[in-house]
Amino acid sequence: MTDKKTLLQETFGFAHFRPGQEAIIDALLAGRDTLAVMPTGAGKSLCFQIPALLFDGLSLVISPLISLMKDQVSALRQAGVEAAYLNSALTARQAATVLARARRGTYRILYVAPERLLLPAFHDLVCTSPPPFVAVDEAHCVSQWGQDFRPGYLDIAPFIAGLPRRPVLGAFTATATADVRDDVISLLQLRDPFVTTTGFDRPNLFFEVRRPRDRAAELRRFLEERRGKSGIVYCLTRKTVEEVCARLIEAGHKAVAYHGGLEADRRRQNQESFQKDEATVMVATNAFGMGIDKSNISFVIHYNMPKNIESYYQEAGRAGRDGSRAECLLLYGGRDVLTNQFLIEKGQDDGSAPNRPFRNAEYRRLRQMTFYCKSRDCLRARILRYFDEEAPDRCGNCSNCLQEFKEVDITVEAQKILSCALRMKGRFGAKLLADTLRGSKNAKIGEYGLDSLSTYAIMADESDASLREKIDDLLARGYLALSDDAYPLVAATAKARPVLFRGEKVTMKVPSGTRKGPARPAGDDADPLLGRLKKVRKALADRQGVPAFVIFSDATLRQMAEKRPQSGDELLQISGVGQVKGKQYGEAFLEVLREES
Ligand code: ADP
Ligand code: MG
Repeated sequence: MTDKKTLLQETFGFAHFRPGQEAIIDALLAGRDTLAVMPTGAGKSLCFQIPALLFDGLSLVISPLISLMKDQVSALRQAGVEAAYLNSALTARQAATVLARARRGTYRILYVAPERLLLPAFHDLVCTSPPPFVAVDEAHCVSQWGQDFRPGYLDIAPFIAGLPRRPVLGAFTATATADVRDDVISLLQLRDPFVTTTGFDRPNLFFEVRRPRDRAAELRRFLEERRGKSGIVYCLTRKTVEEVCARLIEAGHKAVAYHGGLEADRRRQNQESFQKDEATVMVATNAFGMGIDKSNISFVIHYNMPKNIESYYQEAGRAGRDGSRAECLLLYGGRDVLTNQFLIEKGQDDGSAPNRPFRNAEYRRLRQMTFYCKSRDCLRARILRYFDEEAPDRCGNCSNCLQEFKEVDITVEAQKILSCALRMKGRFGAKLLADTLRGSKNAKIGEYGLDSLSTYAIMADESDASLREKIDDLLARGYLALSDDAYPLVAATAKARPVLFRGEKVTMKVPSGTRKGPARPAGDDADPLLGRLKKVRKALADRQGVPAFVIFSDATLRQMAEKRPQSGDELLQISGVGQVKGKQYGEAFLEVLREES
């Protein structure tokens, strides 16, 4: 009899479950609804694919994106699993064929777009053969609080309610906030669900923030050192995407662009050429990537600060999915805050104007993002704690942990700032606080009588930049807080009192010049054997018109190059080589591996 462990090893070729996977599979197999929150790259697909193969009958996977369905189905077929998808990419005739085969019991897993659920033909299918199990991938799409809200996802609950037999429901997402979690449970009507959040840490990702004077030059340098590697450059606006992409092409990079303003055909082409490693750099807005399963992305650069940490972590998390070391670099500039504020006010891309509480929540998230960029604490810890996860103070694998800082005592400056904030009674913004402290003659100062405060001009000899840095630091560490308004007001918090009234010490970290270089991902292009294995893979992939990583991931090829298996049995020991793939492709790789030893 097949069981989960056999499937894991023989079909998918993996020796062990990753953290969280087994518990989720067990809960689903026991018939319990499940909500699994796992970071991008953690391996959610396996958590619904294995149960789908163990339940009797045809299981459904509801998935938002055509490209994602296509790749997952290709990958399953490569592994010898009967799977298919139904979405708008199929012609009416193709869709009819899929439905007919599904009715005949050809498939074990059917991927379907939410918009198809309530169509009559599909309804007929599920009434005659009710699915034992329905998985909802990218489940945050039901929630207005998550990114990528998809109206079609609201059809899921009525669809489930209309089934002759209620299936086991599994919901999967990488978005972890409590708002989204609650929304998913109630909108999908999960029953007494097993809710699990696996660790959000992605130890193989290196996090870095830079504040370059010249972003374009910084990007050029970064990419120059990583020629030939696959990566994404995210920009905030379409215009920036176009500019950056053009510059990269000029500099000889194989770059393509992706944003909502491009023709659908063009978008698809560009995405495909990136998936197939023909283009190495994808320059895109946040429209690109939901459900991108490309496993060999070795860097994700944010050319601008994104709107919140959820987006950032999701986008950055597209790097290093196969577990290889990868880099996540954010280039921060003060103007990014304004651009994001503009985008929040303008509303969603689909033109719907968000309501006020929603906008205020967006401003709050934007501020957290800004704090991340300005923080001198461990970047990983900042992200993990944002998702309510505990984290050690230092990870040793982010730009702040590698930077040496010295702690300087800023107690006196902090007292001045906090005392002025207290006198301004939370009625003004951070700029006016700084202006008052520096004794500016700004018209508003006179208008509001701020020049009559005893703290007016008590920091007149401090530069604006250095004062703003201290205010930011006090904000980031909770001595000051901002209101939720579009133009937030600043106020001293309870944490300020011991500083003001009991002389509690405040220190601030200042970079001390030296910076240890990050442990760069090993340059694998230097390994000729790996290069040859990749060539074999590319040829196999091209012959079938599938992306290379669907054949084997980079991590799998790397392990081959390292362990140099010589026989079919040895090859099966490599992580990612299952029985069907081993049989189908093993010889082609073994040939190269045997030559080598
Ligand atoms: P998610 O949907 O959570 O972002 P995926 O399901 O796309 O992640 O999986 C990411 C990568 O991890 C894939 O390349 C997948 O083959 C690999 N993977 C999943 N589970 C395991 C496992 N148990 N051992 C090794 N690799 C795994
Ligand atoms: Mg996924």
